[in-house]
Amino acid sequence: MTTDMNNPKKTDQLKYGIGEQRAAMLTEPSPHGTPELDSSVPGGIYLCQVDECVSCGACCGLYNVADTSRDHMTAMLAERTDQFAAVPRTTGAIDAFADRIQATQYSQRPFEQFHHCPFTGLIGPQRSRVGCLLHPMADGNQGVDFRGLSYYGGLACRTYFCPATQHLPVRYKQILRSILREWYLYGLVVTERTLVAALFERIEILLDRPLDLSMLRRNPTAVHRLTELLQLKTQWPYRPRAHDTLCHFFFSYPPYARPAIDYRQLGTEVSPYDTILVELVSEFASQEDLRCAEALVDTRIKAAAAAVSVPLF
Ligand code: SF4
Ligand code: SF4
Repeated sequence: MTTDMNNPKKTDQLKYGIGEQRAAMLTEPSPHGTPELDSSVPGGIYLCQVDECVSCGACCGLYNVADTSRDHMTAMLAERTDQFAAVPRTTGAIDAFADRIQATQYSQRPFEQFHHCPFTGLIGPQRSRVGCLLHPMADGNQGVDFRGLSYYGGLACRTYFCPATQHLPVRYKQILRSILREWYLYGLVVTERTLVAALFERIEILLDRPLDLSMLRRNPTAVHRLTELLQLKTQWPYRPRAHDTLCHFFFSYPPYARPAIDYRQLGTEVSPYDTILVELVSEFASQEDLRCAEALVDTRIKAAAAAVSVPLF
């Protein structure tokens, strides 16, 4: 996790989980019945922990590893969670655990200026979502907050909120929380505020009205099509080898800019989908490649818009 000077305080309850206290704040249930609106977080919508299977650890550097495939990450997190369960809760033992994890996974991270926290693991009764192994509510910690032993320290862990939390429109955050059903894609997409906004704005232009969560209720086809649209993040075939990572460096200082597309070399005008193509990280060998990419984006946007616009009863 990196720090941000303007972050409001995040409570322990929020950082970890789906607390009963937050049920009282619930003003509008999502389709799967978890809290959405929350006046205690910036932007009014809590994104970090959603339900038993949906959560995010992107600011902890979750995806800043050499292999960001779902299978690898699931196995990596399961293994370290198992290992941590046997670690005595002493400073020396926890530090030694961190050293062991970092020895195997730290040197090959795509963004060297971005930490990968060895204490990201799987949490919950079924270990079905990502979370912090040092949190006082995590298994084995017996209410003790060990996050002070992390690289950034307990204060940053408790108080950081990413730019998407603060700047994505509420309606988009509600939709992300509602349609994505597992942590892997959710965490990859939820920090992509520019990409998500560009995709959803395109749908709104086609619909000629703002997207609204109510449009998705009792509309599984719309949920499916929107999910397919967001899966462009993981399925994008035009990501160049030099930027071949799903990890997103989304902090407010930009040492790792996404590459611009060289339209002059392609002999064509700037694509109407330029923002989306850049945010997906793209390189095209030819104009034909570019047109295929535009068609892929266009098809999924239109399919999502068509599904969303089906009248509901
Ligand atoms: S990246 Fe944003 S949404 Fe994800 S855990 Fe961090 S603050 Fe929460
Ligand atoms: S100690 Fe926990 S909250 Fe802090 S960076 Fe690591 S996983 Fe994230």
